[in-house]
Order: sequence, then structure tokens, then C-alpha cells
Amino acid sequence: MIRIVQQRAKCIGCNICEEAAPYRWRMSKKDGKCTLIGGTEKKGFFSISVGDDEWDDQVKAAKHCPVNIIKIGKF
Ligand code: SF4
Repeated sequence: MIRIVQQRAKCIGCNICEEAAPYRWRMSKKDGKCTLIGGTEKKGFFSISVGDDEWDDQVKAAKHCPVNIIKIGKF
């Protein structure tokens, strides 16, 4: 399993994560920030556990996020 965590408040809406994994990230028309699809919020951090098959896409998203607010880890 993979854990994905996003500090959403700091998102600048560049859309890179959505390009890397459109099934997991979606730009919000309301506030111009990307939403972690299926994620749950706790103290401003959104997180979700997903299958290992998403690893490569989420590495791309995390690596290229210009404000470095996407963290991923295997467990
Ligand atoms: S890559 Fe980072 S800054 Fe860009 S939309 Fe995704 S979470 Fe926001």
C-alpha cells in the first residue's frame, strides 16, 4: 500500500499532479487548488491509502510539485 499526503492549503494550482495522475487529483473550480480524490482531511492535511499500482504516477506528482506539498510512502 501507498500513503499519499497533501498539504492542500499551500497548493498553487499548477495542475502537475493532475497531469501525472488524473484519476487521483482534480483541480477545484471553487478555489483553484488540486483535490486529492478520496482523501480525508485532518488539520489541513489530506491523505489516502492506495494500491501499489499508483506508485509511479504519484512519484511523478510528488517529485514535480513546485511547492513540495505532496508526500508519498510505502507501508
Ligand atoms: S503539483 Fe502541487 S502545487 Fe501543483 S496542483 Fe498539485 S498539489 Fe498543487
